[in-house]
Amino acid sequence: MRGVLCTNCVRLAETVLAMVAGITMNGASNGVRKRVETQMGATSGMSGDGKHIILADPRGFCAGVDRAIATVQTIVKTAHPHSGLPPVYVRRQIVHNRHVVDDLAAQGAVFVEELSEIPDDAVAAGVPVVFSAHGVSPQVQAEAKRRGMFIVDATCPLVSKVHREVLRFVREGYEIVYIGHRGHDEAVGVVGESPEHVHLIEHEDDVADLDFRPGQKLVLLTQTTLSVDETAGVVAALKKRFDWIEEPPSSDICYATQNRQTAVKTVAERAQCVVIVGSANSSNSVRLMEVAQEALGERGRAHRVDDAAEMDPAWFEGVDTVGVSSGASVPDSLVDGVVEALRPLGFTDVSYVETVKENMHFVLPAALRKREGSAGKRPE
Ligand code: SF4
Repeated sequence: MRGVLCTNCVRLAETVLAMVAGITMNGASNGVRKRVETQMGATSGMSGDGKHIILADPRGFCAGVDRAIATVQTIVKTAHPHSGLPPVYVRRQIVHNRHVVDDLAAQGAVFVEELSEIPDDAVAAGVPVVFSAHGVSPQVQAEAKRRGMFIVDATCPLVSKVHREVLRFVREGYEIVYIGHRGHDEAVGVVGESPEHVHLIEHEDDVADLDFRPGQKLVLLTQTTLSVDETAGVVAALKKRFDWIEEPPSSDICYATQNRQTAVKTVAERAQCVVIVGSANSSNSVRLMEVAQEALGERGRAHRVDDAAEMDPAWFEGVDTVGVSSGASVPDSLVDGVVEALRPLGFTDVSYVETVKENMHFVLPAALRKREGSAGKRPE
């Protein structure tokens, strides 16, 4: 049975729950009324006069996205104006979120699909070119170098780790089976490290197309934005067919992906509807929606929206509790917008469930730190 608790009760409940269940509970952001969620009582026996929103925590920005956005913002803020030239070019979407990209574009950043779109006079003037959090292939690196571009590489360090693994394993004579999404920027970059030795597969069925002789050194790598659950079937199929296949010393799957999926699952188990904020081309946002749907089962539907404007009030008819989460590239202001939009529909009681506390932080890219240290001069 849940009820509205005083501050001391909330603190006591948080402490006990953190100790007993390994899950900490927090009041919601956005100035809304606090409630405490317990492992048992979120969907039954609630007191209070409103319907319920449960926010998943962790949700939203991960350390890699935070760093990539801060990289572009730092350049924009510290840029020395070149006449008629933008402060920065960014190759591809810095992160897979339309709102983030639109916001940075409004601040002056220019987004291009390929380096060939960047004019020579901008290169000559030393306008920085940022590589996105998803990373690039060596071919893109080589083109930038050939043209003498001032590159600021915002590739997430966890993605860079997979690039380094590819190079190391290839040096040691391995063939690499890489589980990833064909066409995703991260997969394109990783496969590009050694296209002849990296074999991209997406599904269990793809395993049948692989052919390695016994004794061939074989290792398995994965796209960071897949989860352990998501890859389990493919990994099992690979191990069945190639029982000598090795895995890297530490998993490539990113902490943020796993944490957000665990949190949304916990929330979905207590709700009859889940809203995931995130763009359609964000693989971790789409996967969050799938995880939420699996946890909801027949009890309800999970929906993905770019922002509150895409929500349909009909989704919430007959619903008492809505779970809300967001992908790793989504600013929390968009989640706040969803919470605000649900308020007129009677969802005035907001709480959140924290399944783990994240403390990951990445420093800005080296090129930017050097640039700041040299008072804005273009590094050699
Ligand atoms: S989801 Fe993980 S791998 Fe991707 S940018 Fe964020 S921290 Fe890096």
